Amino acid sequence: MSHQPHDHQRCISTALQAAEQLCGSKGVRFTELRRRVLELVWQSHRPLGAYDILDTLSREDGRRAAPPTVYRALDFLLEQGLVHRIASLNAFVGCSSPEHRHQGQFLICRNCHEATELDQQRIHRAIADSAAEHGFTVEAETVEVAGLCARCREAA
Ligand SMILES: [Zn+2]
Ligand SMILES: [Zn+2]
Ligand SMILES: [Zn+2]
Repeated sequence: MSHQPHDHQRCISTALQAAEQLCGSKGVRFTELRRRVLELVWQSHRPLGAYDILDTLSREDGRRAAPPTVYRALDFLLEQGLVHRIASLNAFVGCSSPEHRHQGQFLICRNCHEATELDQQRIHRAIADSAAEHGFTVEAETVEVAGLCARCREAA
């Protein structure tokens, strides 16, 4: 997916719809809070930190949102594959293909902080094969590549 100017409202509604379907088919509850948190994560293609989410929720509700409830909602979204965690930014980004399980691979722009998700079996295979050569069992695998996106490179 490239992030040229686009109708982002559509990204959001598609993601929320996909989440509803996914939760429905798995028989897990897509509560109002879970939905709201996912919507906030999807407000842009920039990964969003838990504290930003807390701040927005608190502002909207006029009282401090409880951190544990937000963390639990984020854990739920992670478990369902609806968001990925970007360790280098300690932040979360929405996944546009949650219906199939995959590991996160991201190009992260150091200037605008947009994260572009790659979903390359080749990268996954290369990691799995290399790990196997070391007798290593992969439990979690997130590839984060830092650099400059096409738009920021042009503007530079
Ligand atoms: Zn978008
Ligand atoms: Zn994904
Ligand atoms: Zn950029």
